[in-house]
Amino acid sequence: MNQNSPNTKGKSRSMIDIIAALTVTSLLIALYYLIPKLANDGESTITVAHTHDAPIKSSIKFGFNTENYVLEAYEMAKNQFVGEILFKNGISYTKIAALENEATDIFNVRKIRAGKNYHIVRKDSCGPACALIYEPDPLHYVVYDLRDSVEVKINEREFVTCIETASGRVESSLWGAMTAQNLDFGLVDLMEDALASSVDFYRTQYGDEFKLIYERKYVDDKPVSLGRLLGAYYKNEYGEYYSILYENDKYEGYYDGEGRPTQKAFLRSPVRFSRISSRFNRRRFHPIKKRRIPHLGTDYAAPYGTPIRAVADGVITKATYTRNNGKYVKMKHDRTYETQYLHMQKFAAGIRPGIKVSQGQTIGFVGSTGLATGPHVCFRFWKNKKQINHLRENFPPADPMDEAELPAFYKQRNMIRSFLDMIDPLEPELLAKNQL
Ligand SMILES: [Zn+2]
Repeated sequence: MNQNSPNTKGKSRSMIDIIAALTVTSLLIALYYLIPKLANDGESTITVAHTHDAPIKSSIKFGFNTENYVLEAYEMAKNQFVGEILFKNGISYTKIAALENEATDIFNVRKIRAGKNYHIVRKDSCGPACALIYEPDPLHYVVYDLRDSVEVKINEREFVTCIETASGRVESSLWGAMTAQNLDFGLVDLMEDALASSVDFYRTQYGDEFKLIYERKYVDDKPVSLGRLLGAYYKNEYGEYYSILYENDKYEGYYDGEGRPTQKAFLRSPVRFSRISSRFNRRRFHPIKKRRIPHLGTDYAAPYGTPIRAVADGVITKATYTRNNGKYVKMKHDRTYETQYLHMQKFAAGIRPGIKVSQGQTIGFVGSTGLATGPHVCFRFWKNKKQINHLRENFPPADPMDEAELPAFYKQRNMIRSFLDMIDPLEPELLAKNQL
C-alpha cells in the first residue's frame, strides 16, 4: 500500500510540492465529478481521498445498536463449531438445529473457517446469545439471528472507494520496485493486463518507470481490496505508453491514447492478484515426485477459493477430475489455442462441456485437488495441440474501438492522462493518498 504517513517522512515539503499536491487534489475532485462511472459502486460512496478528521462513529454495528446490545469479538479456533459456541452461550440444541437448517442455503455453518472473526451479540453481558455474526471476508458479514425465529442473512459492509496512485522506477525487477514501496502485488497483474500489447513485462529493465491510478476499497478506514485500475503509464527504452480504462454498455477494456486496444485477446493470468510460484520449465525438478519432470504450465499461487477466470472467450471442452490434475477445466478458444486450469477446489456453477464462456468469467475456484502441495492453479496453454509458455507467446491485440466512439473516449483519456502526467515516479509519496 502506498500510504506513507506525512509524519513518518522526515522530508520537508517545499511550496512547489504543496502546490503540486493541491493541483492533483483538484484534478482528483474533477475526475470524481466529471466521470460518474467511476462512482458506480451502488450503495457505497466514493471519496477521492481520506480526510484527517476522525469519522463520526455510528452506534450501529452489524445492524445492532450498541446502546442496546453487547458485542464481543472472537476469532474462530481450529475444530470449533458454531453449534458448540452457541450451546456454550445458552442456546438450546433444538434452536441450534433449526438455525443450521435455515443456514444451509444461505451461509452454511460448515463453511465457517478457523482464523476468521466472529462476534457474539447479547442483550446484556451475562445473558444468552441473541445472534452470532461471522465475517467470511472483510467485505461481508453473516448474521445468524436467534432473537425470535431463527434467521440467517449475508450482508455487505459499507465500504468507501478511494482513488489512489502508485508509481516507481525499476531497479532490478518490477516486483522489487513494487515491494520497495510496499505496493500491492495485485497492481502488477492489473498493470500487465492493461499494457499487455505495448510493454513486454518479461523484459523490464533498470530505469523503466511506471505510474498507476486505481481504486481501493476501505472498510472502517482499513484497505480491504483493490478495485479497478483506471489508468497506467509505462516508460522504457522504446518509448512511453498509456493505457486508459474505458467502460460503457458496449466497451470494457484498456486503450492507448489513440483508442487502440492495449490488451491482448488473452489475459496474462487466470487468477487476479496472484503470484507465479512455478514457471514453465522443460527441465524442472518435481517437488513431490523428486525427479526431473518438465513443467509444461505456469503455476499461480492464490488462497483457497479465489476465483479462476477464463483468459479468453471460448467453449468448455472438459470439466472433470483426474488423479494428477485434480478437478480441471479445459477450453477451446479458436482453431489454434486451448487453455487448461488444474487443481480446482470446485467448478463455478454451470461450467460443463459445451458451455460458452467469455473472457474474465469465473470458471472455478483455486484449490489443491490432485497432485498439488498447496492452493494454486496450474495454467496450461496449448497451441496446435502442443503445450507452450504463454508468457513468451505473441498474441494478437483485442478488437479495435469503433471510430464513432472516439470523441467520448478522448474526454476520458484527457482526464486520466492529465492526472497520470502529474505524478512524479521518483516522488511517489508526494501524491500518496493520505497527503492530499
Ligand atoms: Zn503446474
